[in-house]
Amino acid sequence: MKSIKISVALVSFILLLISCTPERYFTEEAHQIHLEALTIDTHLDTPIHLNSDPFFDLSKYHDSRKKGSGKVDFPRMKKGGLDAAFFIVWTAQGERNPQGYQKVKAKALDIFDLIHNNVSKNSNLAELAYSTNDIYKIAKSKKRAILIGMENGYPIGKDLSLVKKFYDLGARYITLCHTKDNDICDSSTDESEDKGLTEFGEKVVREMNRLGIMIDVSHISDKSFYDVIKISKTPVIASHSCCRALCNHPRNMTDDMIKLLAQKGGIIQLTLVNEYIKTPKQNPQRDSALVKLKKRFGDYSKLSPKKLGELENAFSELNKKFPQSMATVEDFVNHIDHVVKLVGIEYVGIGSDFDGGGGIDGVYDVSEMENITLELIKRGYSDEDIKKIWGENLLRVFNEVENYAKAHK
Ligand SMILES: [Zn+2]
Repeated sequence: MKSIKISVALVSFILLLISCTPERYFTEEAHQIHLEALTIDTHLDTPIHLNSDPFFDLSKYHDSRKKGSGKVDFPRMKKGGLDAAFFIVWTAQGERNPQGYQKVKAKALDIFDLIHNNVSKNSNLAELAYSTNDIYKIAKSKKRAILIGMENGYPIGKDLSLVKKFYDLGARYITLCHTKDNDICDSSTDESEDKGLTEFGEKVVREMNRLGIMIDVSHISDKSFYDVIKISKTPVIASHSCCRALCNHPRNMTDDMIKLLAQKGGIIQLTLVNEYIKTPKQNPQRDSALVKLKKRFGDYSKLSPKKLGELENAFSELNKKFPQSMATVEDFVNHIDHVVKLVGIEYVGIGSDFDGGGGIDGVYDVSEMENITLELIKRGYSDEDIKKIWGENLLRVFNEVENYAKAHK
């Protein structure tokens, strides 16, 4: 009898070994941890897509390889296990004069409306979140928590009172500038001025501190970053940037900047944009096609929604004809490793930039987010570490910003 018992146990053990190949074991563990974690993405440019296609339905599942599908909808967010995300009010930098400010303010208000409308018409799937408490509450109800971030402080113009207006509409972070210099600070990709954070910019930073809006240092120049770090009373975020030590691009942060950011309790949200993860291989045919596309459409900040839609289609055609060499999940997680080795696990998160250029091999759209967790498991990150990366770190910073505002009202 005893020998039968032993052989049954032995057979079950062998069967278990066969079924638990490392790959399968990792996949199952990743799925479990990903489900448990409160996952937050700090940068989705989905409103750009909604703007160019007013009929796009966020409640339907789309195949991202098909034209016009974008990278995000609520069912794909659910499949990718993404609980919360910042939808972005992006405005391109235009003229810095009263007409320009008037125009961009109207545009920003339209985008706030667009986000509010799209979330409220899908109230069974998603809800707007205005605080860390809202994120916990909405995630618990199994809906997607949608927050709002503004990419470019240009719509503030020279009117400080607008910071409060945007806060009231839901903005919980503002990227101080975009690809060009503005009245707040200089951009990392515009060398025309070298002023760093302006006097007006200092006021904007203080007002954001006072109200409880996170300061986003992605896109801003190195000089602007050092100025902001000195002025801000609360930790700051980089909502979608990578490490310059691994990929030399002005949009990425140097080790020195990451160290200072972490010293002040801030966070770098690593992004899924290929050219910030890995310097692309030379592709002259693609480059010349891109130049032609740029000539054909001109300044994209001046394009109508219809023209923006045409540009999106032309760009996806170009990508099919001259595919871009894509970064992999492994390349992306190398950036996580780098930050962790440099400053520790507490100062890193994820901001994909889907619908604004984000998407790599293995995490092409929001439905594939779990693959990042899988790679983290393979590299030996613990459950606790993974939960910090996916949301707890960001919640810590956001909560500090909220508390500072509460104490200074
Ligand atoms: Zn951006």
